[in-house]
Amino acid sequence: MPSFADLGLSGPVLRAVTRAGYEEPTPIQAQAIPEALNGRDIIGASQTGTGKTAAFSLPIVSNLGPSTKPQVLVLEPTRELAAQVEDQMNVFGYYKPMNVVLIHGGVGYGHQIEALETKPDVILATPGRLLDHLEKGNLDLSELKYLVLDEVDRMLDMGFLPDVKKIIDQCPKGRQTLFFSATMPAAIQTLAQWALNDPISIEVGGRRSPAETVSHAFYPVGMDQRDDLILALVDKTKFESIMIFTRTKKEADQLLARLKDIDGTNPVALHSDIKQSDRTKALQGFRDGTFNIIVATDIAARGLDVSGVTHVINYRVPENPEDYVHRIGRTGRAQQEGDAFTILTADELENAAAVEHFVEQKIERRKLEGFDYNYTALLDDSPAAPLRRKRPPGRKRR
Ligand code: AMP
Repeated sequence: MPSFADLGLSGPVLRAVTRAGYEEPTPIQAQAIPEALNGRDIIGASQTGTGKTAAFSLPIVSNLGPSTKPQVLVLEPTRELAAQVEDQMNVFGYYKPMNVVLIHGGVGYGHQIEALETKPDVILATPGRLLDHLEKGNLDLSELKYLVLDEVDRMLDMGFLPDVKKIIDQCPKGRQTLFFSATMPAAIQTLAQWALNDPISIEVGGRRSPAETVSHAFYPVGMDQRDDLILALVDKTKFESIMIFTRTKKEADQLLARLKDIDGTNPVALHSDIKQSDRTKALQGFRDGTFNIIVATDIAARGLDVSGVTHVINYRVPENPEDYVHRIGRTGRAQQEGDAFTILTADELENAAAVEHFVEQKIERRKLEGFDYNYTALLDDSPAAPLRRKRPPGRKRR
């Protein structure tokens, strides 16, 4: 593995990397940084937690020159993620001050318009609000040199691709484009072909493999005991921090209310009905350890960089197997051990099978010792799928 000094980064950026405590580049950094410094477009298949923010930020900060118009645009699917990249950019720009402006929805326009008038070098944005500003003529991308499209599969899931395309249309053709997505469905490959110019592909860790340090298990239970089992699991697990994913905001709120009764927990919720300032506080509090459990809907939690999460609990088996991989990617970050528990009810067996198929491994069924199960049919370690097996030809059903 090369050192950061071998990659061709500028002196101020190398000093900032040392100051950030990074000792050696991660695999995606080692591969992407030299190519990005040479001006290549990059298509990177990489999950969060692999160091991809630094992989695209370090070469950009290193190459950035003076200008009166924005030179860098980074598009992110969620406000939280955009804010996270802003924090990292400011760390990497410590010895090379840049004007970084954050643009996202859910807050007023006034401050953003003022910020856009301060001649930003770098704009970090979610697509919808950025497009609003572009349409109102509040910013000019005509001198843009770097476009970063991050977490593109999340942007696709959230319906942002039409906005993203309109934004790309307003970027100069001669720009350099860095494109990252954990998965590459057809719609994303098409977008990449259109947006990128002779890109080099970089794939780290395989698109499907969940973080290797994570151990995962299904906890089968009857529907009526799902909440009780989660509460018992939390109660019996030695954890530092847990992220619990629910499908709906209501589930998140209900679970939060019950978690508050468990000794030693300080839970908080994160979903889109919670106002932005409280979402920021929830996330900040979870990061600094004030809260040790965060109950989040999948949308609110996408791509968040929360390090040191010891446990992920899925309230339900995700309908989309790729979400499973994204979620359990919250644990096992930065080489720490993590556990991912998924509650499994009888109506979710097909989803469970789809997850196992996607991750190409059987996920262990576990029983929580000491829990008073009402319903035990699911608890044997029988394969979850297929539900309807094809009979071999010529054999009649008995
Ligand atoms: P990311 O994949 O960009 O979300 O990064 C995940 C976490 O790893 C962040 O907290 C980074 O600060 C951290 N990180 C990124 N690169 C390195 C590195 N080379 N050495 C140590 N930590 C890193």
